[in-house]
Amino acid sequence: MDTSNASTGVTGRYFDGKTSRLHRVTLTVTDGVAHLSGDVERSAPLASLRVSERARHAARKVSFEDGAWLEVDDRAAFAQLLAGTGHRDTGVVRAQQSWRGVLVALGVTVGVVVVSYVYLLPAAAGWVANTLPVSVERQMGQGVLEVLDRRVLGPTRLPAARQEQLRRQFAALVAPEPDAPTWKLVFRSSRIGPNALALPSGDIVMTDQLVNLLKDDQAVMAVLAHELGHLHRRHLTRRLVQSSAVAAGTWVIFGDLSAMLTALPTVALDMKYSREAEYEADDYAVAMLRHNGIDPEHMAQAFVKLGQASGGQDASYLSSHPATGERIARIRAAR
Ligand SMILES: [Zn+2]
Repeated sequence: MDTSNASTGVTGRYFDGKTSRLHRVTLTVTDGVAHLSGDVERSAPLASLRVSERARHAARKVSFEDGAWLEVDDRAAFAQLLAGTGHRDTGVVRAQQSWRGVLVALGVTVGVVVVSYVYLLPAAAGWVANTLPVSVERQMGQGVLEVLDRRVLGPTRLPAARQEQLRRQFAALVAPEPDAPTWKLVFRSSRIGPNALALPSGDIVMTDQLVNLLKDDQAVMAVLAHELGHLHRRHLTRRLVQSSAVAAGTWVIFGDLSAMLTALPTVALDMKYSREAEYEADDYAVAMLRHNGIDPEHMAQAFVKLGQASGGQDASYLSSHPATGERIARIRAAR
């Protein structure tokens, strides 16, 4: 009669690792040494053995250093035997025993990822953007302008005198806050319609189409003030850092380096700011206009015209700066 238990040992199937022959053996443990008896007799220090992790339906497996192994079906008896030797399954293994544990672990993981993405990443990006040396920021902007020039921008057709006139007008305005970033006004014709954007390099790109559409220099000033607001708050730098961080993350997790390399141009062409960023830039612009005695209504009018002009256009100023009625009302309320 078989009386296998923790004190007398557990039965199992032994394979020598060289032939497929099955040996029936009994495993016992005394003083830190495992003994097999039955078809095969052998002993080995416990420390030299590897015990498979506990899985719900699999037999436990004990591997010897020479490639031989023992399979035990009676997992309860085996666990008892192991417990007597002081062997402990790791916490991870124990948690994997229950589906509930798995679900909780999954939920926590998803939660951490979501919180990181929604809260930590923007905060970290903001912090990085604000601490990034200006020289690095300028370099990032340089790359972005090159990409834009290759893909959507062309040489300006505005007469040099007209460019200079607008440049001088904007330079004459006083920023609403101290430490305004240095900027450079860059004119370009565009395949993306009336548009303006502030690059981390300090370049404020303005398309001929925008100047021609507004037909009002004060409105042009309003748009430029809005862009200076983005620049002053480092909005685009933030977005670039954030996207690079996501790409760097995919690189680390999935080993996909291409995602990181393509991130910058993609962001450059998809400059959608958050609503908060837009409002910040609007507030900045309104403050700047008032500071210089210009009626913010010029800015409201700029958005009205842009709204009319965009009708169906794909990548107009509006896709990055939605001219909602709410927004126009907000600018007018600031008067
Ligand atoms: Zn904007």
